[in-house]
Amino acid sequence: MATLAPANPWTLVYEGYDPAAEGLREALCTLGNGRFATRGATPDGLCRTPGTYRAGCYDRLASRVAGRTVVNEDLVNLPDWLPLTFATPGSDWFHPDGAELLEYRQELDLRRGVLLRELRRRDDAGRITRVRQRRLVSMADPALAALETTFTAENWSGPLRVRAALDGTVTNHGVARYRDLRGDHLTDHATGDEDGLTWLTATTRSSRITVALAARMDAPVPGRAEREPGRIGTEHVLHAEEGVPVTVTKIVALVTSRDPAVHDPLSAALRWAGQAPPFGELLAAHEAAWERLWERARLEVGGPELAQLVHLHVFHLLQTLSPHTFDLDVGVPARGLHGEAYRGHVFWDELFVLPWLNLRFPDISLGLLRYRWRRLPEARAAARAAGYDGAMFPWQSGSDGREETQTFHLNPDSGRWLPDVSHLQRHVGLAIAYNVWQHHLVTGSMTSWCADLLTDIARFFASLAVLDPASGRYEIRGVMGPDEYHTARPGAAAPGLDNNAYTNVMTVWLLARALELGLARPEESARWADITRRMRVDFHDGVISQFTGYADLAELDWGRYRGVRRLDRALEADGDDVNRYKASKQADTLMLCYLLTTDELLDILRRLGYPADPELIPRTISYYLDRTSHGSTLSSVVHAWVLAHADRARSWQFFAEAALSDIKDVQGGTTAEGIHLGAMGGTLDMLQRCYLGLEPRPDGLRLDPCLPERLGSLSLPIEFRGRRLLVEADHERTRVDGITLPRGAAATIPFPPLIIRRPGRVRGR
Ligand code: BGC
Repeated sequence: MATLAPANPWTLVYEGYDPAAEGLREALCTLGNGRFATRGATPDGLCRTPGTYRAGCYDRLASRVAGRTVVNEDLVNLPDWLPLTFATPGSDWFHPDGAELLEYRQELDLRRGVLLRELRRRDDAGRITRVRQRRLVSMADPALAALETTFTAENWSGPLRVRAALDGTVTNHGVARYRDLRGDHLTDHATGDEDGLTWLTATTRSSRITVALAARMDAPVPGRAEREPGRIGTEHVLHAEEGVPVTVTKIVALVTSRDPAVHDPLSAALRWAGQAPPFGELLAAHEAAWERLWERARLEVGGPELAQLVHLHVFHLLQTLSPHTFDLDVGVPARGLHGEAYRGHVFWDELFVLPWLNLRFPDISLGLLRYRWRRLPEARAAARAAGYDGAMFPWQSGSDGREETQTFHLNPDSGRWLPDVSHLQRHVGLAIAYNVWQHHLVTGSMTSWCADLLTDIARFFASLAVLDPASGRYEIRGVMGPDEYHTARPGAAAPGLDNNAYTNVMTVWLLARALELGLARPEESARWADITRRMRVDFHDGVISQFTGYADLAELDWGRYRGVRRLDRALEADGDDVNRYKASKQADTLMLCYLLTTDELLDILRRLGYPADPELIPRTISYYLDRTSHGSTLSSVVHAWVLAHADRARSWQFFAEAALSDIKDVQGGTTAEGIHLGAMGGTLDMLQRCYLGLEPRPDGLRLDPCLPERLGSLSLPIEFRGRRLLVEADHERTRVDGITLPRGAAATIPFPPLIIRRPGRVRGR
């Protein structure tokens, strides 16, 4: 049984080999550089889910399920560059599954981005061989990856066979509940060997992206090429001398036809693999690149366990989104580049990721916002087709920005395929707008194309609001909030809900910002301003109602459902429907307290003419807290945040749960299918913007720390409006930029007023 060894703040150590736990370990030991990533699969095991994903490399395939044709776009699992195994005289090729393992240990070095595996194996004849492997996906040269293997024959001498391969026969099959769907995205495989390199190319079926891998084996003896359909490798016969280490290194270049500065992927891959330096130099450059990243990403916290989680989250975030991501035209994949869950799609999770990046790597954030801007024409077309103005961004986005949400999904609890209407989560546009605004506050500037994004999203939400003549209120009908359990009122003929409080209030917030920035056309201003005064919000039992009609829902008898995170699936399997109940998957109304300060929220409600006493907020928090199953890792992030001031101990519990989401796999096995990037980014952002109370504002940076008891201290560099600031806080004081704040005090570091470039006519992409 493999165990996770006690925390060292910079490593993740696994002792032992446990085939059943490999999926989780593979996801957590993924190595990547923001351009591509490779899961931490063994190079040689039988229980492995190899996965190499290049950011933004999608393909679309049609499948027949439950009597229907469904079309899905997937982030493609690219050819596997890892395979490498060995054989001692007279024995079969090694794989850890059936072997006698005297030692087995895997260590992920989070500071350097290196995965180490050490094992000792005894074969049937008693020969003991020690194997030490180091692996990297280069942060310095984002086309390269390498696997160095050192063998030591401990008690024998003789021939040692080593076999390495590039395998293009992989498919997308990493998520069990998608296995009825087609995953054979790669076709037209070709292989070859020349000038000491082996190569493999394949092309995606519908997006026609060609991917080329070229491998160079640095070994004491040359290898003999071996080919099978879709696969090529080399076999080397080394001489093992008792006690003398012998090393082979596989250096691989991965190039696609989507890469800039490439004529054709194969010739580029061959050149880059051929010219790559030896492993030692590659490693040194890779480590130096990580060191530079860590200087900007540094986030020191008291206590080794928390420090380890912080490092893990920063590490995976930067492996998914790095300076190499900037011009790749890709968004924030909800599950990283670490697995196939949610098909590599881009949801609203960037709302939890960009605020952290803004204060560290505002350039990466800008690249991610640009992904959205490039898809503005598609979002405008979607709005037009649905009868609205502006831009309607898809709930799930992939290559070209069309709606990628599946129309049917499988409930694994009941085995039934069910209609999926989650595309009605129009609030994704609000998340994009919020991120544009936050980026603007932090960097102090707004490009004309960012202003375009904000304008078109505001225009869409303004056109979504309809005036109800009877009440004199604007309403937004037929949408879904973040709580995906509620798709419709019980018994309703059509899906969608009216007046989701989160959507309505954030629409008011957005239109107010857009008006301040002068983004409305003259003929739009009056209506937008009217919406900010007359939007409908429902209330019941002294709290904000999640949507119109929420008050009429039944209370769930939580009894046997307590602790069940996916209530929707459990109730459907029991022949019931979660829509009937006051039960939420995740924070929905409470998202308002997450994104807005108490004052901002109360001001909006008062401006709308609702009696909003300060107690409304704590009442609303405690009401929904009692009725939420936390079926998304994002839920604990939001709950930790909204409780930070009122109940620090409870806030910390939620924070700890969010921080442990992936390492402890709290959502029942889902981490093996990919990390939860929103929760990872959200926990980092919590430390900065919530517990440290860093609030970017138009007039400067406000600091209002509320460190929980269990969080001893924090120290971090940030970048605000082009200035580097070091912030250090503990329970006694906070220091920043020559200012010392005593415990309990808040202050604003003033900055010159913001520069806003008026939106120009930006055409093309
Ligand atoms: C959550 C969404 C989230 C998605 C991708 C779902 O389970 O309900 O809010 O965007 O996962 O992470």
